Amino acid sequence: MKLAMIGFGQAGGKIVDRFVQYDERTGSGIVRAAIAVNTAKADLMGLENIEQENRVLIGQSRVKGHGVGADNELGAEIAEEDVDEVQGAIDAIPTHEVDAFLVVAGMGGGTGSGGAPVLAKHLKRIYTIPVYGLGVLPGSDEGGIYTLNAARSFQTFVREVDNLLVFDNDSWRQAGESVEGGYDDINKEIVTRFGVLFGAGEVGEGDEVAESVVDSSEIINTLAGGGVSTVGYASEGVDLDDGGGLLSRFTGSDEQVDTAHTTNRITSLVRKAALGRLTLPCEIEGAERALLVMSGPPKHLNRKGIERGRKWLEEQTGSMEVRGGDFPVKEPQVAACILLSGVNDVPRIKELQQVAIEAQDNIESIREESEDNLEELVEDDEDELDPLF
Ligand code: GDP
Repeated sequence: MKLAMIGFGQAGGKIVDRFVQYDERTGSGIVRAAIAVNTAKADLMGLENIEQENRVLIGQSRVKGHGVGADNELGAEIAEEDVDEVQGAIDAIPTHEVDAFLVVAGMGGGTGSGGAPVLAKHLKRIYTIPVYGLGVLPGSDEGGIYTLNAARSFQTFVREVDNLLVFDNDSWRQAGESVEGGYDDINKEIVTRFGVLFGAGEVGEGDEVAESVVDSSEIINTLAGGGVSTVGYASEGVDLDDGGGLLSRFTGSDEQVDTAHTTNRITSLVRKAALGRLTLPCEIEGAERALLVMSGPPKHLNRKGIERGRKWLEEQTGSMEVRGGDFPVKEPQVAACILLSGVNDVPRIKELQQVAIEAQDNIESIREESEDNLEELVEDDEDELDPLF
């Protein structure tokens, strides 16, 4: 599937920058265009792979290239005022060659948190292709203001996109490691998961054609209907030269053993992907739609395994709309990538909203208190002094 990716804010820009690198390394062909938008000049300069002319600095008259400092209302205002500058960069994209837009942002900060929903709304008004969001939730140790920003941005972003794919930094923090230090690993995880998902169906010249191909319309149909999505992933290394593994050599190439082994590996990877760590942890039961993409060397994929995996997903989610197919790649691993779309039972979001409401109340009472305190400090007790003017 060919995407026009727009990274909004620091996290958004860095993640899209990584996607470009992934695309070049794997030849996946998913990044048809990559744009980074920011109010902070330094963040744009730190990018490595997005071309200079596709780095758009907005809000110069308001913040002079210094960013909005986690003020997402200001981020949204600036995005609205300067949306034409972003559109200028988008105008250079051959959008007739693009299947969808993907607007990427960290929801806890200011520029991306406020700006990404504004851009999504603008794109939906102008274009007929789907506009998806990839929103990153902050770690719970980042503090009240980030949580409040994320909760408000989440509400707005979901409404403005055709589907919001969510990645939760909190559940991906390594034990004992700060989120900051772990961003590299986290971004790699994001790019791998979404790269396999969106890469499905992008068969290049000379690639082997899949037995039951996943094409972009299946991804689009799974995401259609809107709501929130999460992605599961599990992989296992295989030998590129050997179709059946050691066992077949010892048993004199018993084809049935090979098939059984391949099928079992696929079904076990599907379980691991669905029941392991999701990009947004949630109950998979009740997911409205799902898509299973099995990637790997063709001889390690088979229709029976994928069909079993797909059926199992139907049982687990209770959904009647579970699609599945393969995605042949030349890498020495077999991977199951599962998109669960329209998830509704997400305790993490409820918890985030609770913390956000507390933070909002605290911020208000601190503000009132500080006004009182300042007045008490500045005014003399008996009100004997007068200010100059
Ligand atoms: P902005 O530039 O004002 O949009 O704000 P940032 O993008 O710097 O930060 C927003 C949130 O994104 C932070 O609270 C973090 O949770 C998250 N974040 C920042 N950088 C990264 C990154 O490189 N990767 C990931 N996954 N999250 C990030």
